Amino acid sequence: MSELKNQPAKSDFIRDIIADDLATGKHATTITRFPPEPNGYLHIGHAKSICLNFGIAEEYADRSAVCHLRFDDTNPEKEESEYVESIKADVKWLGFDWGENLYFASDYFSFFYDCAVHLIQQGKAFVENQSAEEMRANRGNLTLPGTPSPFRDRSVEENLELFAKMRAGEFQEGECVLRAKIDMSSPNLNMRDPVLYRILKAHHHNTGDAWCIYPMYDFAHPLEDALEHITHSLCTLEFENHRPLYDWVIENCPVPSKPRQIEFARLNLTYTVLSKRKLLQLVKEGHVSGWDDPRMPTISGIRRRGYPPEAVKHFCKRIGITKFNGTTDVALLEFDVRDHLNASAPRRMAVLEPVKVILENWEEGNVEYAEVPNHPQNSEEGIREIALTGEIWIEREDFMEDPPKKFYRLGPGRYVRLRGGPIIQCTGFEKDSDGVVTVIRANVLPGTTGVDAPEGVECRAAIHWVDAAHGADAEIRIYDRLFSVENPDDAEDGFLSVLNPDSLKTITAKIEPSLAEVGPGFRCQFERVGYFVSDGIDHQPGSKPVFNRTVALRDSWAKQAGR
Ligand code: ATP
Ligand code: MG
Repeated sequence: MSELKNQPAKSDFIRDIIADDLATGKHATTITRFPPEPNGYLHIGHAKSICLNFGIAEEYADRSAVCHLRFDDTNPEKEESEYVESIKADVKWLGFDWGENLYFASDYFSFFYDCAVHLIQQGKAFVENQSAEEMRANRGNLTLPGTPSPFRDRSVEENLELFAKMRAGEFQEGECVLRAKIDMSSPNLNMRDPVLYRILKAHHHNTGDAWCIYPMYDFAHPLEDALEHITHSLCTLEFENHRPLYDWVIENCPVPSKPRQIEFARLNLTYTVLSKRKLLQLVKEGHVSGWDDPRMPTISGIRRRGYPPEAVKHFCKRIGITKFNGTTDVALLEFDVRDHLNASAPRRMAVLEPVKVILENWEEGNVEYAEVPNHPQNSEEGIREIALTGEIWIEREDFMEDPPKKFYRLGPGRYVRLRGGPIIQCTGFEKDSDGVVTVIRANVLPGTTGVDAPEGVECRAAIHWVDAAHGADAEIRIYDRLFSVENPDDAEDGFLSVLNPDSLKTITAKIEPSLAEVGPGFRCQFERVGYFVSDGIDHQPGSKPVFNRTVALRDSWAKQAGR
């Protein structure tokens, strides 16, 4: 296993700031938060944020540090309870615990409202009657200052009255908004009298129809943080230009604490899209089977794909936290998955492209048992006994009609060992009219189980096999990357034009008997083939087993890319 495993996270500029704040006594502890908007399923990018926020809380457990799980559900139009449940399940699956600290921003609607009224009373907010287009036109740009709204100097009384009417539902959507009164000539466009509240006559999943005005993200978010006494509010770099507004809201509203916003680079991955809008489109248009399709970069997708949570966390630790936007090679994530599974996954045998071998000298009705280690590097995992009879399945590619000298598997006259069992020698084979081998004939060398090859028998390899009488059929889903180019977001004809047509192949394979008994979510290595997991949904007792390929034993894309 890699050296980083089980070691504390490397430090980074955010952890340095927090360590400093604790050392100087600025804060007695640290409180972070993970604030998803429940408008989609979480993805691997969110995992980076979860590992950062919850990770910091764990690192300061001795100071009673905590991380809040807060649903940022201030936008009534896009949110659904299904997403709330999936997000909770995903955070738990990653191994994090919010304890008592589960919050919904929609519980703070009254507080946001009171803060808005406070700003009006201070002469720092006004009701705007210009249309959205007029506001845009008057906003100026990076070189031109904005033009103050003709409604900017309304009296406090008038503003209070109009805002109360907005709340009471007396205006239509778009008729007016509440704006902060900051600086129309600020070089930062976010400071040019930003909108704080708009009218939305929409039903909210938590507050129902109690509200018809809803706060903007830039107004609500700092207030949520302050109300929860968040010390360090960690967000992605796109919000860097919003920080002055974040600080302005904190400075000018009656808040109980002063959180600090710090930005870090978001995760981007090659061969992957991480925009929620695009992921939703893949689901809605049926390009994948759902949010939890094993090809999706969602947490529920990679869980179903068989990625262990430890591997995802290790990956997040390894990529670290920086201020520089870049794109991480998805092969790094796959490496961590392979690395973790290599150390932890039990070994089993399955034959993906089966061809039958008839053992001609096998005594009718005889059953012998091969003894196969469950993990070659870990004897504590024990061994299992696998029944062997006179007919078995082996991998088609483990036989060659006319093998070169260095092919150490089966060919006419050649010897090979059946994993955990005896050595066999090929005596012949049959082909159909298309030249495809239909059956291989072989003899067993008696007494060769568990002992070295006898003198004069050249046997250099062991192959995996499944007994024809005892094995079972299984559906195997061979997953590959969903996109065939490194940067699907940049594709000229859109990301859908570069979907990998071979991202899913379904085949029927032969599996050893024990694999027919496992429950859903069982991760293992199919020896010599790759890492697989029994499907979390379709693999059910009593029906045909279903396994998903998590990752191949080696990175087949590395060769193609010339790496
Ligand atoms: P939206 O466009 O819907 O806001 P979002 O990806 O920002 O999409 P949120 O639910 O708002 O989704 O994200 C929750 C948290 O996860 C935020 O703090 C956000 O900064 C963080 N996050 C989202 N995407 C990434 C990413 N790719 N890398 C790191 N952090 C991310
Ligand atoms: Mg967001």
